[in-house]
Amino acid sequence: MTTTDVDPDAPIDPYALDPAGLEALLVELGERPYRARQVHAWLVRGVDEPEQMTDLPQALRTRLGERFAPSRPELIAHAVADDGHTHKLLLRFPDGEAIETVLMLYPDRATVCISTQAGCAMGCPFCATGQAGFRRQLTAGEVVRQVVVADAALRSGIIDGDHLPDDAPDHVTNVVYMGMGEPLANLPATLASVRWLHDPDGFNLSARSITVSTVGLVPGIRRLAELGLPVTLAVSLHASTDALRDDLVPINRTHPLAEVEQEMAAYRQRTNRRVSIEWCLIGDVNDDAQQADRLAGIASRLRAHVNIIPMNPTPGVRWKEPTPERTREFVDRVRQRGASVTLRDTRGRDADAACGQLLASYTLGAGNRLPAAVGAAGRVERRLPVTEPEA
Ligand code: SAH
Ligand code: SF4
Repeated sequence: MTTTDVDPDAPIDPYALDPAGLEALLVELGERPYRARQVHAWLVRGVDEPEQMTDLPQALRTRLGERFAPSRPELIAHAVADDGHTHKLLLRFPDGEAIETVLMLYPDRATVCISTQAGCAMGCPFCATGQAGFRRQLTAGEVVRQVVVADAALRSGIIDGDHLPDDAPDHVTNVVYMGMGEPLANLPATLASVRWLHDPDGFNLSARSITVSTVGLVPGIRRLAELGLPVTLAVSLHASTDALRDDLVPINRTHPLAEVEQEMAAYRQRTNRRVSIEWCLIGDVNDDAQQADRLAGIASRLRAHVNIIPMNPTPGVRWKEPTPERTREFVDRVRQRGASVTLRDTRGRDADAACGQLLASYTLGAGNRLPAAVGAAGRVERRLPVTEPEA
């Protein structure tokens, strides 16, 4: 949200304000601009309740309390995997829409996988989120919130009453836009949240530690490039021929492969940042030699890194993940043809695939229903669908 978007009377989610918007609000309330920085610093620390902003005068706290209507999410389910190193959260916003956020812990980094939409309109047939359809856009504030929730957990060392592992970093170091939804179909929230994350007075993340994954929305890739930050771009290709991609990624009918490849090259040129290709490997669908060869060709031309993710089986999807032999052959073939490629295997294998499945199992049951969560979060120890890219 920018200065001009601030409606003088409407209740405001403070996380939806950029620094200029926050400053405009405080000036409108008759305050000096530096107060905005104080409020912003609280928001970064996860405090959105003006009463708790103890360095503000009481009168200002009261007035902000009247203006702020924080879109505070409630944790309604929490699944843990990898000995406490992966936490998948189902967060429900006040209007009832639920989205997934995943925190992945490593000794040297803490990555949060965030959602940009409740649901998704892109309809990729192997994806749980795609199956559920589009519900609504998330606001920039709701996108930033997910990082705030994860960061607060890391700082306190506790998530939903559980202690995080001792070797967990104490703040978020990486953010991947690989949760529910298509980030480039919600450009205002995606671009504003990237700015928040990158802002030295915000989360102060380097652009390189932010990855935006897209199904290949060409105009959106261009807009992301115009941001002028070397954010890592990951394009979910999944097919190297238009005939197959038209089925696996329906938006390919609007933006076919050649156009997507051209835009990826332009992104690389403009940002000087290597792009990534995501490839969800589906048994007997896109795991053959022809697809491997053409994928290697695209990756080599773009000097892109390829991440292969064996498909995570999803209820209602008839396709299967490929056999381990078939997977190995595919990866080897792409590599032998000169592309740099990673199989997300070790931890990725435990906890792979896209977001969308926690919500699906929570809502639908389907054999792995989470404990019903009324008030407290339901919690279950099981293997989780998560992705983390190789930048
Ligand atoms: N909409 C964006 C970002 C969210 S999806 C995109 O499609 O890129 C994040 C990643 O999870 C994408 O690469 C997507 O193709 C992948 N994915 C979706 N469903 C999956 C499944 N069942 N198994 C493995 N990967 C999956
Ligand atoms: Fe949407 Fe990405 Fe799922 Fe496709 S894979 S339906 S773009 S979330």
